Amino acid sequence: MKLLPKVIVFDLDGTLYEDIHHFNFYAERLRDKLPLQKQEIFWKEYKLAEQGEHTLRIGRVYDVAKDLLLVQQDRIVKEAFKWDGTALSQEEVNQLYPEQITIDLESMLSIGDLWWVPACVAFHHGLSGKSGHRSFLETREFMMTPEFKMNKITNFKEMLQDLREHGVKLVLLTNSPEPDSEVILTKLELQTVFHKKIFNGKKPTLTSNRFEEIALTFNVNYNEILSVGDNWINEILPAQKLGCSTILIDPHHISTDESADIVVETMTQAIPFFKKIIE
Ligand SMILES: [Mg+2]
Repeated sequence: MKLLPKVIVFDLDGTLYEDIHHFNFYAERLRDKLPLQKQEIFWKEYKLAEQGEHTLRIGRVYDVAKDLLLVQQDRIVKEAFKWDGTALSQEEVNQLYPEQITIDLESMLSIGDLWWVPACVAFHHGLSGKSGHRSFLETREFMMTPEFKMNKITNFKEMLQDLREHGVKLVLLTNSPEPDSEVILTKLELQTVFHKKIFNGKKPTLTSNRFEEIALTFNVNYNEILSVGDNWINEILPAQKLGCSTILIDPHHISTDESADIVVETMTQAIPFFKKIIE
């Protein structure tokens, strides 16, 4: 597939860096806020889920109130599982979810990346959303310290600079807040490479509004925008609907070839496709 974008929109976490050791730190912060008697089972289930051996896994949706794991397609629930893995009958599924579900950040959680794995396990064991958010902030704080070392993606910065020199506009669109995102960008030496940076992006709810803003800023059509990210719900699906091209980074192999124009396991694998843009 030949992509010819004038604007490329990048997600930050899981896209511009490939480190994952902070997820353990996050899981520990979540664990420590649970009652003592829940901590061991939390950790066990978190590890199983991380390895794709639990009903809760990346690619599913967690219905917090009903404590069910959902397999959905275009927000229509196809399958539902109890925590122990028992599948609900098709009749029960239709009864519980007769219409499209609304994915949000509180009650219907899309387990789109590794952030959501320990969080949903913790919510299952009764952790409040507030405590979950506090653990997230503690983790982001840790990521800003010098102790949190980040591995740069080889040749990535050079490739971005190349794209810039060829007139391609580069945009960062992240759900993370500005101060810690900037620290991460600085660690990656990517703080000045973007033409536009949008923080607190509120994806997926506001993804299409953000893309509208980006299209206006750079005076391009949607088919001239390429969206790159590791979260299908946040960065790929809404962009596809607008007519943008897409590259999905899928380290967990939860997508199909149709999920995006290009599906890769790591950003490193995507670099040849970016190079082709300016060939
Ligand atoms: Mg991401």
